[in-house]
Amino acid sequence: MADPAILIAGAGPVGLTAALALRRAGHAVRVVDAKPAGATEAIDPRAIALSHGSRLILERLGLWQQIVATPIEHIHVSQQDGFGQTRIEAEDYHLPALGHVTRLGLLTNTLLRAAAEAGIAVTFDAELRSTAHADDHVAATIRSAGADHQHTAALLILAEGKPAGAVRRKDYSQTAIVTEAWSTTAHEGRAFERFTPEGPLALLPLDTGHSIVWCMRDEHAQNLLALDNEPFLARLNQATRFARRTWTQVAARAAFPLTLLQAPDGSHPREFALGNAAQTLHPVAGQGLNLGLRDAFELAEVLQRGLSLDALAQYRKQRARDRAATIALTDQYVSLFSNQLVPVRAVRGAGLALFNLVPPLRRAIARRMMFGVR
Ligand SMILES: Cc1cc2nc3c(=O)[nH]c(=O)nc-3n(C[C@H](O)[C@H](O)[C@H](O)COP(=O)(O)OP(=O)(O)OC[C@H]3O[C@@H](n4cnc5c(N)ncnc54)[C@H](O)[C@@H]3O)c2cc1C
Repeated sequence: MADPAILIAGAGPVGLTAALALRRAGHAVRVVDAKPAGATEAIDPRAIALSHGSRLILERLGLWQQIVATPIEHIHVSQQDGFGQTRIEAEDYHLPALGHVTRLGLLTNTLLRAAAEAGIAVTFDAELRSTAHADDHVAATIRSAGADHQHTAALLILAEGKPAGAVRRKDYSQTAIVTEAWSTTAHEGRAFERFTPEGPLALLPLDTGHSIVWCMRDEHAQNLLALDNEPFLARLNQATRFARRTWTQVAARAAFPLTLLQAPDGSHPREFALGNAAQTLHPVAGQGLNLGLRDAFELAEVLQRGLSLDALAQYRKQRARDRAATIALTDQYVSLFSNQLVPVRAVRGAGLALFNLVPPLRRAIARRMMFGVR
């Protein structure tokens, strides 16, 4: 196969969205992924809150109708051991939903099918091993079927799910326990975010139940993971009294250690990192994939006029603000809501109450969560 203009390393949701958007913009694209063929069918246990902005991106790519997702109509934010709460309602923004919750594995499989239909070559068992840069191309070494192969491309996109090389790293010493649970009460499109001294606890409406993302100190997560379903349900019921529901059934649990990783910007003008390869975020604000989809979509928008060094430089500049603000906002949420100093708790409570009472303030935060920084 001839070398395409754009080579993408990583067939996760961000790499595949970039491939589909760039194909639609008229570019020849090829995707390689290190995992074995068929591995994406093994369903990732994470459910993802897609922002309204991500829905618009998937609509523009003609994919939204194929995605099975549960609408979020109300978001309730509160803190344990403190006053103050905020409610965000879809109808205040004249939207049918503030966001949608979908299963990450299903989303990736949908994107993979769409890539096949669009004639995009996706090769599994093909790992990007190294790169060499020239003025007019990037040379990539791909290991496949036990041998190294050389590929050249005008642009290399790194969507490998983790930054390569030097990174800014911050360990939160928190683990997210991810599971699904069913209660005696219908979810009515309600999502909850509860800030606790150990980390945030999110309940997201999903199909007939809720997806649970429960962040806590690493050692406590190990204890909870070891529990049988009944004692786990008892702990969940105790921790979620604020949501006024009784959990009766729980699915298998998975654990994700939480760190902030950020790749340095601008290694080479013809190489970009997107999604988790550029920045891996704490899930507190549900921004990792949403930011990655904006990265992918805006790249294709900028390259619609052709793949030039000027266009690539413009893209880098254009994305810098949204990326920096989303990384900073996510990290500040973790720090602010984990701080148990009494004055900080009081200010936090006042802040939540203020957001609730001052609609323009609430609207500004909600818009940033829905669309990123414009
Ligand atoms: C508990 C939890 C909850 C979350 N909730 C949300 C949420 O509600 N909303 C939200 O927006 N985000 C959320 N996120 C973040 C979101 O899951 C990630 O941002 C997103 O999955 C990253 O997708 P990606 O395509 O960048 O990477 P990945 O999905 O990791 O894909 C990377 C791909 O690259 C391949 N690969 C790796 N190395 C190579 C190589 N050398 N060569 C070729 N291929 C390679 C891998 O096999 C993989 O297929 C959450 C994260 C966690 C941990």
